[in-house]
Amino acid sequence: MSSNLLLGKPVAEKHYSLMKKRILELKNKGIVPKLVVILIGNNPASRIYVNSKAKMFKNLNCLSEIKKLDERVSKKNLLKLIEELNNNKNVHGILLQLPLPKHLDSNDFLSKINPMKDVDGFHPENSGLLFQGNPRFIPCTPLGCVKILEHYKIDIKSKYIVVIGRSNIVGKPITSLLSQPFKFGNATVTLCHSHTTNLSSYTKLADIIISAVGKPSLIKNDMVKNGCIILDVGINRINDSSDKGYHIVGDVDFPSVVEKASYISPVPGGIGPMTISMLVHNTILAAELSTK
Ligand code: NAP
Repeated sequence: MSSNLLLGKPVAEKHYSLMKKRILELKNKGIVPKLVVILIGNNPASRIYVNSKAKMFKNLNCLSEIKKLDERVSKKNLLKLIEELNNNKNVHGILLQLPLPKHLDSNDFLSKINPMKDVDGFHPENSGLLFQGNPRFIPCTPLGCVKILEHYKIDIKSKYIVVIGRSNIVGKPITSLLSQPFKFGNATVTLCHSHTTNLSSYTKLADIIISAVGKPSLIKNDMVKNGCIILDVGINRINDSSDKGYHIVGDVDFPSVVEKASYISPVPGGIGPMTISMLVHNTILAAELSTK
């Protein structure tokens, strides 16, 4: 079987063109959507993500600002900055770039971001709304996964989906999202994690596998059934002798699994572009909600 690639870039582009109309409508009301990203320390991967987010906002004539804080910033000063941004009417979205340095616990801060500006959807109020089936801000990567499946006309109703990884960022919200009785929902979802025994006994039965772990070659050819659909969310840096010194792979052993899958998202070029586009979507939504 030869797989169809679930490419994120064309889907993200389609969504950007839909967003342009919304941005214009806001502009007519004197509002320019603005995201502020709080970036702590010098994590190279975080810097790359933050810069690519900023570039996208600029391309769409939206505003973004990066607040760079020292690696050793105190809890008190970080809370003070969040409070200032919460009270700033010109800021619609606040994103705390994770991971944080070891001395800071993300839960102490994510719950302090104004839930109406929580464009990552990690505030307990927004997680709760999603869990109850009445979402406001859906976390960007899970929403991006839904949009890519929708675009490629992959119906998930009554399908068996195995999600691997149970983070608050990807695994848990996507499990909730796909199993809700939404128009694009009604799947039967199993959530696997590092304590799941015999992972392949689940993946072999899955119509759709979503892997969000961060382990190269976790999913191999003999773990998937013929014709299954795979969303590879994982991002893993592999050192090599190229000029850059590394290349990026997902969680799936792509060369072997591509033989069996009917659809598969590549890494890079699959879910990554969708995550950024959904961040822009959520920021526009936050700006729209601020007018109500
Ligand atoms: P995370 O918080 O580190 O969570 C990883 C999850 O994987 C945990 O739930 C862990 O289980 C589980 N796990 C670890 N080893 C496992 C194994 N052998 N079998 C089954 N489950 C296992 O990670 P995250 O923040 O969700 O990110 C996951 C991956 O997605 C990373 O590579 C990250 O870079 C990538 N990512 C990509 C995007 C994108 O836009 N493409 C966005 C976000 C994240 P326990 O809970 O038991 O420890």
